[in-house]
Amino acid sequence: MANPRVLEQLRRHLRGQVIAPEDPDYDDARRVYNRMIDRRPGAVVRCATAGDVAAALAIGEDAGLAVAVRCGGHNAGGLGVCDDGIVIDLAPMRDLSVDPEARTARVGGGCTWGEVDRATHPYGFAVPSGIISTTGVGGLTLGGGTGHLTRRFGLTIDNLLAADVVLADGTIVHASEDDHADLFWALRGGGGNFGVVTAFHFQLQPVDDVLAGPSLWPLDRTREVLSWYREFILAAPEDLSGFFAVMTVPPAPPFPQALHLKKMCAVVWCWTGAPERAGEVFADVLAMQPLLHGVQPMPFPMLQMVFDPLYPPGLQWYWKADFIREIPDEAVAEHARLAAELPTPLSTMHLYPMDGAVHRVSEDATAFGFREANWNQVIVGVDPEAANRAKIIDWTRRYWNAIHPYSAGGAYVNFLMGDEGGDRVRATYRGNYARLVEVKRRYDPHNRFHINQNIDPGVAAAVAEAEARPPT
Ligand SMILES: Cc1cc2nc3c(=O)[nH]c(=O)nc-3n(C[C@H](O)[C@H](O)[C@H](O)COP(=O)(O)OP(=O)(O)OC[C@H]3O[C@@H](n4cnc5c(N)ncnc54)[C@H](O)[C@@H]3O)c2cc1C
Repeated sequence: MANPRVLEQLRRHLRGQVIAPEDPDYDDARRVYNRMIDRRPGAVVRCATAGDVAAALAIGEDAGLAVAVRCGGHNAGGLGVCDDGIVIDLAPMRDLSVDPEARTARVGGGCTWGEVDRATHPYGFAVPSGIISTTGVGGLTLGGGTGHLTRRFGLTIDNLLAADVVLADGTIVHASEDDHADLFWALRGGGGNFGVVTAFHFQLQPVDDVLAGPSLWPLDRTREVLSWYREFILAAPEDLSGFFAVMTVPPAPPFPQALHLKKMCAVVWCWTGAPERAGEVFADVLAMQPLLHGVQPMPFPMLQMVFDPLYPPGLQWYWKADFIREIPDEAVAEHARLAAELPTPLSTMHLYPMDGAVHRVSEDATAFGFREANWNQVIVGVDPEAANRAKIIDWTRRYWNAIHPYSAGGAYVNFLMGDEGGDRVRATYRGNYARLVEVKRRYDPHNRFHINQNIDPGVAAAVAEAEARPPT
């Protein structure tokens, strides 16, 4: 784009900064977490208020431009940025307040999870989120949100009380169980399809210091360890989370030098229960004789930051995901085979448990449509070098093709790359898809918000068809 008239209007009507291709900070402003994504919007607008968001939407609509909405910029497929159109960057909207009496937090639509953790921890509370502190609250929450606290306290959306939303037509609404209940239902799992959330209102959970860290086993024990893990975690108390991983040990402390760069299988634990009960739970883990058992007490925000230095912004990422109900012996064998072929030190496969509290919410209570799955699985090929792109994509696809036949069908929307297609989105929402289309038709009939895992309102096609029909 770089349409001077549009830039002039944006600068005139918005309080926040407007960044155009000729500006020195344009490359920083358009960059997202996954360096495989390289898009060039016509303008990035750093919105300071809900009014700025509404103005940017109106100006974009008048000019016929696409809009992308960005919070943390972490999305695998780079859905927080677009070519040519306008990026509504919520980064300046970082107001955050905690009400310890009411056990709630109001979180600006541009916050990252690290900011939330640091604000709630001094009061002995946390909001269930993901496992990396630099991830945006916006994208993670709207897709569902799984992490260390999921088994005990549910998905992030299960802790969402309300949202302040700018709709496609610029109207600003408050959505909750009592106001715009259909919109509130759709926001909880339906992604950025329905509007721009400028503030999230969460309930807080009592989480203070935790016992956390990895257990590591040699890769040639993957079959044995995964066969044990699949039974153990589903039977464990919900105060315990543990995600299974195949990985390469980072060449840095706290890992002993003898293990540096060794391919291994692992479980990363988080115990939120009473410390005196942990010994009993971890005794079963120690009976599996890990080579390293690094569980130790730490503040919850510290656990949330342990992976940050390993995975800084700017790496090449390729993702494939599935929901998993069971891990049969045949799947275990495939995991062991493909783990041995890990293509680069940062590539990995994670199985995040999502039983417990997630299963106690009914499938149709929120848009998130796959609650009976036991794991949220992601395979990621990761490397700093663009030259290794083909290698990480090839391994990720081969791994996924081998495991997919044993999966439950759909995948977590936040782990889909941008290009997996409508069938995959429908498979993920299953019985909730028709209702999502209804809500989309009500709140965004012209699909202004389409740079996401899109719920197609189908209206544009119907209008085009009607216009093409000869008058009767
Ligand atoms: C290293 C890494 C680790 C991850 N770990 C986890 C994890 O443990 N658990 C988990 O659940 N997910 C995890 N994710 C996935 C993460 O949830 C998604 O990438 C999510 O989309 C990131 O949100 P964001 O706001 O940073 O993304 P962005 O790229 O900024 O946005 C992603 C999408 O959300 C929409 N969006 C964002 N904010 C808003 C808003 N305020 N209003 C309306 N629409 C909005 C955007 O339009 C876009 O479609 C991880 C991702 C990475 C890269």
